[in-house]
Amino acid sequence: MAPMATEQSQQHTRKAVGLAARDASGHLSPLAITRRSTGDDDVVIKILYCGICHSDLHSIKNEWKNARYPMVPGHEIAGEVTEVGKNVTKFKTGDRVGVGCMVNSCQSCESCNKGFENHCPGIIPTYNLVDLDGTITYGGYSSMVVVHERFVVRFPNTIPLDKGAPLLCAGITMYSPMKYHGLNVPGMHLGVLGLGGLGHVAVKFGKAFGMKVTVISSSPGKMQEALERLGANAFIVSKSADEMKAAMSSKDGIINTVSANIPMAPLLRLLKPNGKMILVGLPEKPMEISPFALVAANKTLAGSCIGGMRDTQEMLDLAAKHDVTADIEVIGAEYVNTAMERLAKADVRYLFRHRHWQHPRQGRRRRREV
Ligand code: NAP
Ligand code: ZN
Ligand code: ZN
Repeated sequence: MAPMATEQSQQHTRKAVGLAARDASGHLSPLAITRRSTGDDDVVIKILYCGICHSDLHSIKNEWKNARYPMVPGHEIAGEVTEVGKNVTKFKTGDRVGVGCMVNSCQSCESCNKGFENHCPGIIPTYNLVDLDGTITYGGYSSMVVVHERFVVRFPNTIPLDKGAPLLCAGITMYSPMKYHGLNVPGMHLGVLGLGGLGHVAVKFGKAFGMKVTVISSSPGKMQEALERLGANAFIVSKSADEMKAAMSSKDGIINTVSANIPMAPLLRLLKPNGKMILVGLPEKPMEISPFALVAANKTLAGSCIGGMRDTQEMLDLAAKHDVTADIEVIGAEYVNTAMERLAKADVRYLFRHRHWQHPRQGRRRRREV
């Protein structure tokens, strides 16, 4: 399959509307955008919901120093197929589908051939990158999108689109390291560091896999929700020296979802010998780690970046089987800047926010209390 040949010839004549940041203030406001006409391998999607990931916030504020403005963020897209290209076999009009963090890749390198498009040197993320036709990709804070079918997944019938959208990033970002680092074994002791959008999904998958799950959080106020509603087995306040000491050498693995720079040594002490900490959080600044914290008891520090398309579909199917969805707060497009401010202040507990594109004006904000 040669995406370049077809997509380069596509004209961007299809009108759509997005919410864009114009500069590092991160303020989002409406922007008229265009999408390409339907290529042979393309799926056209009416966007109904899009999750708000902390990466969107990092990106619009240019915290990763790679912003291209105007930027339309959003990579947890859920919607309905409105049209398909002539080569498309997997989807038809009316299907409930999702798009995550990437919209294309070279489709021919070793990583792509193994199903790890997320590691392709030619990966085209859903927003803020140059597409094959030279345009800058615009993400899911918009009314519609056109995506190569390889990068579209199907929502199982039992997963609602609003609660399912965050799985396209948060779900796969948690599932992939659990699968590939062996942190999905019943009875194993998993630590989830940071109970935000990613973290709360990790707790749900950990419980679904029959693991003992401990939430390690800087927010004592999240304890009740973690234990009673999410079903975590234990809760540790990371700022409590006593609680941290009592939990030393108790975890087989920790998934670190924290979006800020925090001291690593006390957290690595929670791992058993040979334990693993998997970093997924992407704070702005480098982190400081003493080699002794890893070497002394053969500990592993690894990173994990989203996941491939095959694993993303597998994750959605497993999520349906185990009834794993995200806890969300549905908002209208007009609330997005307030939502971002609240996300920056961690005033979201572990809720995700979604925008409902269909009726943004009528959009009474609906909060699902947890
Ligand atoms: P989020 O909802 O804001 O959750 C992050 C959590 O980190 C917060 O809920 C908070 O949990 C903890 N935290 C935040 N600031 C802290 C501080 N100063 N000290 C200690 N703890 C703090 O964000 P998210 O959407 O889950 O994303 C988390 C991170 O993962 C972001 O950096 C994002 O860019 C990154 N990410 C990476 C990938 C990947 O592929 N690797 C994919 C998606 C997102 P507590 O209150 O429980 O401490
Ligand atoms: Zn994300
Ligand atoms: Zn590739």
